[in-house]
Amino acid sequence: MSYELRPRTKEGESFIEATESVIKILRDRADNADKKSIVNVHNLADMLSSGIIGAFIPKNFGGFGLTSIHDWMVGISRLGQGDGSVALMVNMHLAVSRGMMETWNASKKSTNKKLTKKLELQFEQIISGNMFLCATATEIGTDNLHPFTEATRVQDGWIINGKKIFVTGSPIASHVAMNLLIRNKKETTPNNEEDVIGAVILPLETKGVITQDDWQAMGMRGSGSQSIFFENVFIPEDIVRPIGQWGKWSSGLLMNRNLANLPLLGAFLGIAEHAYELALVAAKEKPKSIRPSNMELPGIQHIIGEMEISISTTRAMVGQMGQITDDFLKKYKNQKIPIEQAHELLKDHQSMKWVVNRNAIDIVNKALDVVGGSGYLDKNTISRLYRDVRAGPFMQPYAPSEAREYIGKVVLGIYPEN
Ligand SMILES: Cc1cc2nc3c(=O)[nH]c(=O)nc-3n(C[C@H](O)[C@H](O)[C@H](O)COP(=O)(O)OP(=O)(O)OC[C@H]3O[C@@H](n4cnc5c(N)ncnc54)[C@H](O)[C@@H]3O)c2cc1C
Repeated sequence: MSYELRPRTKEGESFIEATESVIKILRDRADNADKKSIVNVHNLADMLSSGIIGAFIPKNFGGFGLTSIHDWMVGISRLGQGDGSVALMVNMHLAVSRGMMETWNASKKSTNKKLTKKLELQFEQIISGNMFLCATATEIGTDNLHPFTEATRVQDGWIINGKKIFVTGSPIASHVAMNLLIRNKKETTPNNEEDVIGAVILPLETKGVITQDDWQAMGMRGSGSQSIFFENVFIPEDIVRPIGQWGKWSSGLLMNRNLANLPLLGAFLGIAEHAYELALVAAKEKPKSIRPSNMELPGIQHIIGEMEISISTTRAMVGQMGQITDDFLKKYKNQKIPIEQAHELLKDHQSMKWVVNRNAIDIVNKALDVVGGSGYLDKNTISRLYRDVRAGPFMQPYAPSEAREYIGKVVLGIYPEN
């Protein structure tokens, strides 16, 4: 198929091949995980044995050495064809491990050999299956730029208090990555700057980290997106990393949001591709009834035609956005990214997110029309896909009610500060 997304790099080829190898097994397990609202731990074992977990880990540490955002998105779309919940979980892990790989590259050029060594040990942990990451920025009543979960300075370290929600993959993760508020106190910000956002990765086993086992949702039921409370969690000094001013976009924070969340859209393309596949099977079935085969009905032919157009548009937009992002990163490889340019990239990301989510929801809806009433039954996979795909517009940053305003502003050269 001409619009089908293919790898653009050699490393991406290995990653995408690995994701394709697990599609069937993910499908076999997905309906049961959905029915029970549980994360299937066997999926994690398969992500490990196929090498998917180590996608961004450099080759000499046993990973695929992936760098292309395009290929990352395509791999996530293949996982989405298997199970959207698993695609979300893996994406969160890969987003954090990609960040670790970037920090490692930067640390090698600096004098901070301790950091280089620490990251290399973490790479080994990831490859051996001892480190699987979830990531959270979401809290009630605020957005990613204004975290309320707070790190307070104490002797030899920090105390963390707060509540995070929607922490996908946390029932099977070993570590959580998250953002925090560090208040403007003299001892933390000597130059009297404003409050900052800190980033931290800590083991979920840390005392005071309390997982809530409260994931009951409309869809993505196999994603384990439970809440986590942090109650007087002590962490050592050097674990908190300042990443920008609290409540204010910076180039770094914009790029963080861009890169961590863009590939998530691959998951929703994958769900739509799965639904399309099921619709085609249903259309071609010879019914044991007085009716002719569905595919001979003009109404079905029209719907299939529309689905093909939507799938092609969605793939084209995902593929092009992947290429735009890869080219962007190549252009700014050794230079600071101007904040306006980071906004321009997020604007393109938001336009693509708009199209992908609307099309994906519409494609699954149409697949249900093609499959007919039997698709409405719980036991039919289409009914799960119909619920799962609806999560897409909620992915950060920018809900549909905010996205158009943001896109319009950036097009007009008004770059939002927060
Ligand atoms: C299945 C699933 C998995 C997820 N996994 C993760 C994860 O692993 N990690 C993570 O950090 N998060 C995760 N999330 C959370 C997700 O990224 C969103 O943060 C969350 O769903 C809330 O999004 P919201 O935009 O509806 O925000 P809410 O705060 O719930 O917003 C409420 C409503 O107010 C509107 N609104 C808010 N501000 C404005 C404004 N200025 N103008 C107009 N309207 C506004 C919003 O658009 C929305 O309709 C997950 C969500 C889902 C559904």
